[in-house]
Amino acid sequence: MRTLYAHGRIFTGEPSSEDAWAEAFVVDDDTIVWVGARDDAPEVDRTVDLEGRLALPGFTDAHTHLLMMGAALGQVALTGARTLADIQTRLRDAVAAEPEATVLRGRGWLFDAIPSGRPTRGMIDAVVTAIPVYLDANDYHSCWVNSAALAELGITRDTPDPLGGRIGRDENGEPDGMLYETAATRYAWAHRDAATTDADRDADVERALDAYLAAGVTGAVDMAFDEYGLAALQRAQERRRGELPIRVAAYWLVDNTGDDDANLAQVERAAALAAESATPWLRVVGIKLVLDGVIDACTAAMRHPYADGTNADPIWSADRLTPVVVAADAKGLQIAQHAIGDLASAMALDALEHAVLVNGDRERRHRIEHLEYAAPGTAERMARLGVTASMQPVHADPAIFANWAQMLGDERVERAFAWPEYESAGALLAFSTDAPTAPHDALANMYVATTRASALDVTVPATHPQFALPLDSALGHATRDAAASVGDGALRGRIAPGLAADIVVLDADPFADGPLSLLSARVISTVVAGRTRRSAVG
Ligand SMILES: [Zn+2]
Repeated sequence: MRTLYAHGRIFTGEPSSEDAWAEAFVVDDDTIVWVGARDDAPEVDRTVDLEGRLALPGFTDAHTHLLMMGAALGQVALTGARTLADIQTRLRDAVAAEPEATVLRGRGWLFDAIPSGRPTRGMIDAVVTAIPVYLDANDYHSCWVNSAALAELGITRDTPDPLGGRIGRDENGEPDGMLYETAATRYAWAHRDAATTDADRDADVERALDAYLAAGVTGAVDMAFDEYGLAALQRAQERRRGELPIRVAAYWLVDNTGDDDANLAQVERAAALAAESATPWLRVVGIKLVLDGVIDACTAAMRHPYADGTNADPIWSADRLTPVVVAADAKGLQIAQHAIGDLASAMALDALEHAVLVNGDRERRHRIEHLEYAAPGTAERMARLGVTASMQPVHADPAIFANWAQMLGDERVERAFAWPEYESAGALLAFSTDAPTAPHDALANMYVATTRASALDVTVPATHPQFALPLDSALGHATRDAAASVGDGALRGRIAPGLAADIVVLDADPFADGPLSLLSARVISTVVAGRTRRSAVG
C-alpha cells in the first residue's frame, strides 16, 4: 500500500537548508520511499490530504524515564499550582473524585508556592486526614507528606535522620511533614515501591506510551532501565504481538556498588540484554552511569565551589569508573554518563579517552547527559571524541532558573545550558525532556529551546536569549539527532527515502505563526512505521 502525503508544509529535518522542505512524500508500508515536488509524485494507492498543515519527522525523546513518567501522569499534578490554596483545592478535588482511594499521591509542587517556602504536614492535614498523602517536589529531591503518611511510615520524633538525608522537624522536634533527599527515598519511595504491583507498572507504561503518542513522540530513550522496566515493557510488547506503539531504546543503569566485580557484573547483564532482547521496538543499547547530582541541591560535582563555599564529590571515583567504561566500550555498548557539573563531565571524557586508548579505534557513539554547566573547551573535546551532548531545553526554563543561578552565583551562570557551543564545535546535540523531572511535551520543549523563555509561565522573562536556537535547528536536535544518538541516524528521524515512516502532523505552523504557537499547537496525527497510531480527527 503506497500512500502520498501532500497539500501541506513538510519539514523534512534534513540538515541542509535546500533539502529542509518538501511538497510531498510517499510511504510504502512502514517506509518513506519518495520525497519531492507534488507534480513529480509516483503512482500511489491513496492520498492523505494534509490540508495545509505542518508535517515533520516524529520526535524522539532522547532521555526519559518511562515507568516514572507514567506513574507521575497518574498522580495529582501540582506544577501549575502557584499558591497553597491552589494546592489544597487540587488535593481536595482528587479525594472527592476517588473516594475509595487508600492513598493520594501528587507531584511537581514548587517551594515558591508555599508561604515562606516551608511546607508542613498541617497544610495537607487541613484538607486530607483520612488517607496518607505523598507529594513529590518538582525536582524529586524531597517529599511532603501528611500526618497519616508519617504514621504509615512509622516516622516519629525518635526516628534518626538517614545518611544523606533529613527528616524535617518543627520547633518541638516533631516531624513536620518534609522528607529531604534519602529521607524521601528510604522512607516514602521505598514504601511506595514495596506496594507497587506489576499491574500498577503495566498501567504506568501504558499511560506513558499514550502520552507520548498524543505529544507526537515516536521514539523514546529510557535512561535508567532496570529489571522492573524491562519486564514491564516486555509485557507491553507481548500485549501487542511483539510491537510497541513507539520505538524504545534503553540504557541499563549501572550503580556504583563500591565493588569492581559487582559493578562489572551489571555491565555483563547489560551486554547480555543488548545481545538477546533486541527488537525494532525495544532494545538495550548501552549503560547509564550517574556521575554527580544536580546544581539546585549543590550535589553536582564542580571544579570550583558553589557560592556558599561547598562542593560535592562525584558519585564515582575515577578508579571505579574507568574499569566499567573500558569494559562497556569493549563490549560495544554505548555509555551514557550523567554529568551536570564541569568536574563530572571532565571525568566522563577522561574515562572515555582512556577506553579509546585501551580498546583501540573503532565506531563509537557515547554520550553525556545534561551538561548544565561544562567548562569552556568541553564541546570541542566531545566533538573530537564523537560524544553526543544529550541536553534538556525544559531544564533551562527561566521559571525554575533562579535557584540554579543562585547556587553558582558567579560568571559560570552566563554559560548555563550553552547549546550553541555544541553546534559550533560540531558535536551531535540531542534534545530531550528527562520526563518526569520536566513535562514530556515535545512542543513545549521546543518553545524553551527557541526562546529561552518559560513554558511553565509565559510571563517570566527569558534568560540567556543569546543561546536560543532557530526553530529548524531545535527540531533537528529533537528528531534527527535524537534518533542518531541511539545509532538510528540512517534509519529514522528525517523525512527521506529509505527511512522509517515516523511522522507527526500539527494543527499549527510555528515557522509561520511564531514560537508562542508551540504552546497551543495540537498534534493532529502521529504515524509510527507508516501506521497512524493516534489521530485527533478520528
Ligand atoms: Zn534522567
